[in-house]
Amino acid sequence: MTLRVFNTLGMRKEEFVPLREGEVRIYVCGPTVYDFIHIGNARAFVVADVVRRYLEYRGFKVTLVCNITDVDDKIIRKAQETNLSIQQISEMYSDAYFEDIAALNVKKPDINPRATQHISDMIIAIQRLIEKGYAYEVDGDVYFDVSKFKDYGKLSGNKMEALEAGARIEVNPKKRNPADFALWKARKDGEPGWHSPWGWGRPGWHIECSTMAMKYLGETLDIHMGGKDLIFPHHENEIAQAEALTDKPFVRYWLHNEWLTVNGQKMSKSLGNFITVRDALKMYGPQVLRFFLISAHYRSPLDFNSESIEAAKANVEKILSAVERLLSMAEKDERGLEEETLLSQVREAKKKFNEAMDDDFNTPLAIAAVFEIIKAINTYVSQNNAIERSTKREVYETIKTLVEDVLGIKIRFKVGESAERQVAIVKGLMDLILEVRQEMRRRKEWKISDEIRDRLQRMGFIIEDTPKETRWRFKETI
Ligand SMILES: [Zn+2]
Repeated sequence: MTLRVFNTLGMRKEEFVPLREGEVRIYVCGPTVYDFIHIGNARAFVVADVVRRYLEYRGFKVTLVCNITDVDDKIIRKAQETNLSIQQISEMYSDAYFEDIAALNVKKPDINPRATQHISDMIIAIQRLIEKGYAYEVDGDVYFDVSKFKDYGKLSGNKMEALEAGARIEVNPKKRNPADFALWKARKDGEPGWHSPWGWGRPGWHIECSTMAMKYLGETLDIHMGGKDLIFPHHENEIAQAEALTDKPFVRYWLHNEWLTVNGQKMSKSLGNFITVRDALKMYGPQVLRFFLISAHYRSPLDFNSESIEAAKANVEKILSAVERLLSMAEKDERGLEEETLLSQVREAKKKFNEAMDDDFNTPLAIAAVFEIIKAINTYVSQNNAIERSTKREVYETIKTLVEDVLGIKIRFKVGESAERQVAIVKGLMDLILEVRQEMRRRKEWKISDEIRDRLQRMGFIIEDTPKETRWRFKETI
């Protein structure tokens, strides 16, 4: 089995080979902490988490670094608007970010470096870029001279000539080339600043990421991830800074996730379709939201709408109720042909899951493989009264590993932990009650069976007896 990933650098699928055998070092661009994260931000973090979990499942030792940008124009503006300090804003929203990603079952990154705690590392990097002739100072600002870095544009395909001809870049008379970007910005009134060889000022955003990535992961990283909006200029500039400094490749594999849209539109505050993770968690719960976020391949667009979220909800419920039905089955000692069939279906589906994930982390195909297991469980449960012990354990362990450990969707909860879990419990209990009632009816115990039906109806269930079976549903749903 080889793992293949789509590398934005080169725009093709390649076999994944880490720099050091058995180890993978990943950098993910983290949040700028000036507001609550929205579900589009969450997609990037959940995608990175699934990549990390799958690599761990495949036996790699993974180190994942995700930074916190805690000095930035947006934070400064928010502080001015709210009369809070820059530090108060960044602490408040970084705490909220950690809560949100934990709720989504994103494993905590191994290191979460904050930009403001690495200013001296950035100053040293900028000084070296000036010494090597890649950067220049003008009136307390320092710029990277893109004309000196011959590979500029190799990630995004934005070539120097195109950049110069384009009118999109605002003209700044201090810059030698229109595409040059700030490594250090001289302090303006009311802004935070640090002392540097070029006077008081603060670092540019791009130098924060490349400096912290190399500090914790070495000069060449295995994987760098982020949303595709970061390809240019952010990641292009990270490459220029890092490779100009070290003369080594900065990143072996660049992975970028596609947009998340809401009802077909890009999320934006002005359109009023901006959904924070907090609000989405309140409405749908963490399992459904996470399932929705991985329901499309990470390089495909993903649209948030009532249908897609309802589909995620229905799928999560199907998984939970199948697991519950499996676990509540009586156990027996002997393995029969039914168990052999179930096991071979489960093992075959697991193989498909691995193949799907090996092919550039294809989560929708991996989920389809999970549903082959769910189907096999449901068929088994409906046709048998008991299950051989070790078969039950293997089926459960397989689904737990694939769904919970790799995809990060929790399949078992403590009672009261989540609404969807409670629904799954109610469903399991209802199935049990109706099975008992069915037995009563078979024995012509009409009085008791009618009493059970009436009591359930008073509690808000609709019970329908058909010649073949008894169906039930909640009163408020159709
Ligand atoms: Zn970054």
